[in-house]
Amino acid sequence: MTLYRIAIVGAGPAGYFAAQALQSAQSDQHKFSIDMIEKLPTPWGLVRSGVAPDHPKIKTVSKVFEKIATSEGFRLFCNVELDKDITLKELQEMYDAVVIATGSTRGKKLDIPGEDLPGSLSAADFVPWYNAHPDYLNVEVNLNCEEAVVIGAGNVAMDVARMLALEPHELDSTDTAQHALDTLHQSSVRKVHICGRRGPEHAAFTSPELRELPKLEHTDVYIDQHQILVAQQRAQATGEIAKDVKSNLDAMLAIAESESKNHVRAMYFHFLSTPLEIRGNGKVEEVVFGINEVKDGKVVPTGEQFTIKCGLVISAIGYESVEIAGLSYENGRVKNTDGRVAGTNTYVVGWAKRGPSGVIGTNKSDSTEVMKLLVEDLDSPKVSQGIEQLLSERGVIHVSQEHWERINSAEISAGESLGKPRVKFVKREEMLGLK
Ligand code: NAP
Repeated sequence: MTLYRIAIVGAGPAGYFAAQALQSAQSDQHKFSIDMIEKLPTPWGLVRSGVAPDHPKIKTVSKVFEKIATSEGFRLFCNVELDKDITLKELQEMYDAVVIATGSTRGKKLDIPGEDLPGSLSAADFVPWYNAHPDYLNVEVNLNCEEAVVIGAGNVAMDVARMLALEPHELDSTDTAQHALDTLHQSSVRKVHICGRRGPEHAAFTSPELRELPKLEHTDVYIDQHQILVAQQRAQATGEIAKDVKSNLDAMLAIAESESKNHVRAMYFHFLSTPLEIRGNGKVEEVVFGINEVKDGKVVPTGEQFTIKCGLVISAIGYESVEIAGLSYENGRVKNTDGRVAGTNTYVVGWAKRGPSGVIGTNKSDSTEVMKLLVEDLDSPKVSQGIEQLLSERGVIHVSQEHWERINSAEISAGESLGKPRVKFVKREEMLGLK
C-alpha cells in the first residue's frame, strides 16, 4: 500500500470537496493523508464568512465538510498562514501534491472617481464584517443615512442589499455578528438601490434569490415593469431564451407586478445604469450613473445621466485572488491549465482556479475533475511527516479538528438560549483560548 501526503491550502468548499474526491479515490493500493491548512482559526470558508445569515439552509453543507474532516487520514491545521507561518515552497517539498483552494477575497475596484470616499466600501469588506470574520471586525460601516446604493447585479449584491433593507429584528435569530446586528438595529437606511450596468436579461442574479424578494415581510421591492417587458422582447428576439434567463425575467416580472405594501423599507432595482462617479464633500453624498441602452444586442451609453443621493455605496462587482508567493496570476486567479500549475506538484481548485463564479455545489464537480489529474500525476511518494513538527518549532499554535470542534460546540451552545444557530466568536484570542 502506498501512502501519499497531500496538503490542501484553504478550508472552504473547494478545499473540502478536493479532500472528498481524494478520499473517494483511495484503494487498497494507495491511500491519502490529507493536511488541510487554513489561515483563520476556523474552517468552512465562505460557508462561514460569505453566505448571508438569513440563508441558513445553504450552510447545512457544513455537515458534509465535518464528515470529510472526521474521516481517517484527514488533519486540520487552522490558524496557519501561507507566506507567514510556512511557505508554498516548503509545502511543495514536504508533500506529494499541494492543492491551492484559497478563493478570491479581494473586491474588484470600480476605478471611478470618489471610490475611496468614506461611505464607499466593497462587499468584500462588508460581507465578512456582518459574518464575524476576525479580520473585518473594524471595517467602518456607517449606516447613518436614509439611502444606500449597491453596485452590481449578482447574488452578492442581492445579499448585501437584503441585509441593508431587512427589518433588523428579522436577523435576531440568525448568526449575524453581534457588532453588525447592533449597527443594523441603529441603521437609518430605508431605501436600498441595486444598480446593474446591463439589462435585466443580463443580470447575474439567480431566480431562487429573486423569488424570495416578494416574500419579505417588512420590505417592498420595486422593479420597473416596462423595463422587464422590454427585456423579455429583446431576449425573445435573439431566438430561444435560455432557461435561467427566462426564469429570472419571470421572477422579476412577478416582483414588478406585486403590490406595494407601503413599507418604509424598500429595495429598488435599476438596470442599464453604469456608475460614473461617486461624489461628496469628505464623504459619499451621491452617485452619478450613465444611462445605457441595448442597440443591436450591445449595451451602449445613451449619453444621459441620473444621480442617486445616498450616504453609503457598496460595490459588489466580483472578486480577485490575493497573491501567494511562488504562484503566477492572470485575471485575478492563479495561472493554471485545468487546475494544474505548470512545472510544479501544485494544483488549484475553486475560485482561485476559475474566478469568482458558481454556487457552492459547483466546486464539487470542479474539485473532483482536478483531483483526477492530481491522482494521474502521482509518482513515488515522498518520505515526510508533514508540517506538524515545523509548526511547533516555529511556535505556531494551530487549531486542530478537535480544537475546532470545541470552538464549534461553544458557539452552538452560546446560541441555544438566544434562539440562534450559533453565536460566532470574532476575536482570534477567544478561539485560540479554547484549547
Ligand atoms: P457575479 O455573479 O459575477 O456578479 C457581478 C456583477 O457585477 C455583475 O452584474 C456584473 O455586471 C457587475 N459588474 C462587474 N464589474 C462591474 C463594473 N465595473 N461596474 C458595474 N458593475 C459591474 O458575482 P458575485 O455577485 O460577486 O457572485 C459571485 C458568485 O457567487 C456567483 O456565481 C454567485 O451566484 C455566487 N453567489 C451565490 C449566492 C447564492 O447562491 N445565494 C450568494 C452569493 C454569491 P456584468 O454582468 O455586466 O459584468
